Amino acid sequence: MKFIIGVDLEGVACVVGAPDRTLTDSPDFEFAKKQAVREVNAAAAALFAGGAKQVIVWDNHGSSLNLAYEDIDRRCDFAIGVGGDRRWPGLDSSFTGVLFIGYHAMDNTADGVLAHTFSSVSYQYVKVNGVEVGEMAIDSAVAGALDVPLIFAASDEKGIAEIGRFTPWAKTVVTKRGLGRNLAISKHPLRVLNEITEGVQAALANLDQMEPFCFNEPVTVEVRYKRLEGAEQTARSHKRWTRIDPYTVKREFGDINAWLS
Ligand SMILES: [Zn+2]
Repeated sequence: MKFIIGVDLEGVACVVGAPDRTLTDSPDFEFAKKQAVREVNAAAAALFAGGAKQVIVWDNHGSSLNLAYEDIDRRCDFAIGVGGDRRWPGLDSSFTGVLFIGYHAMDNTADGVLAHTFSSVSYQYVKVNGVEVGEMAIDSAVAGALDVPLIFAASDEKGIAEIGRFTPWAKTVVTKRGLGRNLAISKHPLRVLNEITEGVQAALANLDQMEPFCFNEPVTVEVRYKRLEGAEQTARSHKRWTRIDPYTVKREFGDINAWLS
């Protein structure tokens, strides 16, 4: 069995960032990176104990290269860097499942800790086939297109509620409860590690229930920008996007990768 753990940083325990900043520019960025390493190790331990032959850790926050790789379980491999032709570098249909550590709720989520969709300054929402989606649904669909299911996610409770609408079979662990964009009641960062290990164990025990998540194709993508210059630029420089209101553009793609690449 082979797995990839996608690792973002905003959703780990005891991380809230700071107002009007990205996490990368916040005082708890260093802690977030350390906590992500701990949460990855908790998941990887369960995967290897359950029979995994390969676990790839995909470091995907910002422009990648966030984690202290030497502090991660030495049985793991790493997907690092940028510039690939699709999300989940290295993933193919031979993998058993993918997992999320540190993922967060989509933008447009009240009290979602550091909630955003790819860029907190650019996009207010992204809709695929008329439904608002965040990074978790999109990454689940990219894996699903390769017939690989999401089997586990750790995130704040609004992120977990969100992914539950798309992949209800995935096992989940709530790391913290958002009370605002930069406010949370968090579980202790070490106690949550036991829950992650147990959650991944539960996922492995229920692999027969896991399903690849896919969007119906072709996919219609609607992007609402936070500033109308964004919609203006997209609609005027890429003729196949239609501007449906001053802030929003829309276009059809053959599949979700055609939009992301
Ligand atoms: Zn991130």
